[in-house]
Amino acid sequence: MAGIYIHIPFCASRCVYCDFFSSTDSSWRGRYVEAVCRELELRRAELGSEPVSTVYLGGGTPSTLSTAERARLFAALSTVVDWGACSEVTLEANPDDVTPQFIASLKETPVNRLSMGVQSFSDADLAFLRRRHTARGAVEAVERCQAAGYDNISIDLIYGLPGQTLEAWQANLQQAVALGVPHLSAYNLIYEEGTPLWRMRERGEVRECDEELSLQMFDCLIDRLAAARYEHYEISNFARDGRYARHNTSYWTGVPYLGLGAAAHSYDGRVRRINPASLSRYVMAIEAGRVAFDEELESSDSLYNERILTSLRTCWGLDLNRLRADFGEARLRYCLEQAQPHLRAGRLSLDNGVLRITRAGLFTSDDVMSDLFWVD
Ligand code: SF4
Repeated sequence: MAGIYIHIPFCASRCVYCDFFSSTDSSWRGRYVEAVCRELELRRAELGSEPVSTVYLGGGTPSTLSTAERARLFAALSTVVDWGACSEVTLEANPDDVTPQFIASLKETPVNRLSMGVQSFSDADLAFLRRRHTARGAVEAVERCQAAGYDNISIDLIYGLPGQTLEAWQANLQQAVALGVPHLSAYNLIYEEGTPLWRMRERGEVRECDEELSLQMFDCLIDRLAAARYEHYEISNFARDGRYARHNTSYWTGVPYLGLGAAAHSYDGRVRRINPASLSRYVMAIEAGRVAFDEELESSDSLYNERILTSLRTCWGLDLNRLRADFGEARLRYCLEQAQPHLRAGRLSLDNGVLRITRAGLFTSDDVMSDLFWVD
């Protein structure tokens, strides 16, 4: 088992676009942290004998945990993780939580990487998105972490906001590059059904960014970061000096992981386990000594589709020899037949037995990948 993911589903407030499982009811936090520690005990056999190489605390907002709650989680993790063999321990943080006290308490933990939900360096964008921090606060949070010796920092940005101009997006990128962080994730704003943002669009209060402009922003993102020596190693992810997000990369390369906490997913190479997306159902099941996940047994077809989807997302591409070894000759032939129109149109490339999405194919990568899927 390569990685452990822990979901911390608590946020001080809800962002306008968010459809992650999280709650603003912090009264559950103490019981929840105990439940996660108990779940780790109950499921430790799923980790197998391989050392844990990455740990990721995601959310929600893991930086809202108190010092004592964080210490409790890491004490439990220490019973199964050899920190010397664990190369990456990431904690997601919101800039407004990154106080000098927070950093001092983080120093007492094995965390060696911070993923910061910056989203924008414009106060107007941040207010629209209902983020709690300011642009200045985001810069100070990153600089504070760097000054404390945390140089492995990733920041998240969102583009394609209503009314956002190409120049405003360029200014965001300029500021991100100036901070000198080694990793950056950038996402186009999505209108997820059921979110306040989705309802605002339904009521005509916001107009979606024009698709052509979104593509220009994506183009600008790739060029600006390439000029600053960032490698575009996954559709939405960029790293400098080989500082890839190792935990997330293991998702894209099919490595097993154990997910703990409400709504967390686990994968052992064959079965997906999905924990309940409910604080009460999750906590009460664990307190009763039960794990309450749903199980989905992966079929050969779903594993093939998953391989297409995850491999083609990355710069390492789809290794056709491995595809043949894992799924057989017939599936390989099918994949190559489906790939032909995209190879001819320059949206895919084939070099030394590895199929990759080209720059021209990136804009329509979802369509390219789904054309290669196996459908009954
Ligand atoms: S902080 Fe993150 S998880 Fe929480 S509401 Fe905002 S986007 Fe969602």
